[in-house]
Amino acid sequence: MTAQSSRTAGSVSSSSVAAGPVTTGPVTLVGGGPGAAELLTVAAVTALAQADVVLFDRLAPSDDLASLAPQATLIDVGKRAGSHPVSQTGIEELMVEHALAGKRVVRLKGGDPYVFGRGSEEVLACHRNGIAVTVISGVTSALAVPAAAGIPLTHRGISHAFTVISGHAPLTDNELEGLTLLGSTIVVLMGVGTLPTLSQGLLRHGMSAEMPVAIIERGFSATQRTTVSTLSAVLADAAAASVRSPAVLVVGEVVRLAYSGDAAAEDLVARAAEFAGTD
Ligand code: SAH
Repeated sequence: MTAQSSRTAGSVSSSSVAAGPVTTGPVTLVGGGPGAAELLTVAAVTALAQADVVLFDRLAPSDDLASLAPQATLIDVGKRAGSHPVSQTGIEELMVEHALAGKRVVRLKGGDPYVFGRGSEEVLACHRNGIAVTVISGVTSALAVPAAAGIPLTHRGISHAFTVISGHAPLTDNELEGLTLLGSTIVVLMGVGTLPTLSQGLLRHGMSAEMPVAIIERGFSATQRTTVSTLSAVLADAAAASVRSPAVLVVGEVVRLAYSGDAAAEDLVARAAEFAGTD
């Protein structure tokens, strides 16, 4: 699929706007990936190159925006944990306003627009205003940031599922129990603030105190850092390391696979190899 449909907006220039009815939009919601420009998709690069206006977030790759979107007005709607310089409603209003004025609008979001990105709310805002909207998937931090730290989310014989959860609000007891019973790798976004309730909750529902936990901060930046701990020690270790958002948390045996030379990892891999040999 192409990044943008061939709708009529391309023919609207600022001089033609005054002359007749304005053709709206289109709006393209673009997943910008986890922060590295190399992880933008070809569709994302194409959409940016054609944009008249780009509304971008803090976690979207923004360093190269001026060259990626050379004709565009760049608007930083920089969401930060706990404070939104432009409210979600404000972002939607800006998006709609520019599209109604005939601009090709790119809403550039961190990771994938539909993973905790409020992308669907922005799509609905476009629909309510009769604006054509396309969504371009991006590489989500949920998968890419653990990978950047060498952690696979699945490994034959070790974990055959992963669950991605938002730590924005504490999990309920039912959710904690479900996660413990499922035994999948757990990936938590926005989870630094609720780490106490998550780790204590999983322990309370019977998860092993020795379960490995990794916290990967600022994935794909020059200051990317991984803190490895266990479920029972992670609170103290995270505090000692002054762990901060943005970070992706991984809870699961797969964390050991990032550290070759670790005796526990060798044992794990040996067990996994036995399993893999059974089919
Ligand atoms: N739509 C995004 C997620 C938005 S929620 C996606 O698919 O990636 C924001 C959270 O994503 C952050 O709090 C953090 O948990 C995670 N995150 C995004 N980019 C990150 C990065 N480069 N390093 C670490 N965490 C990141």
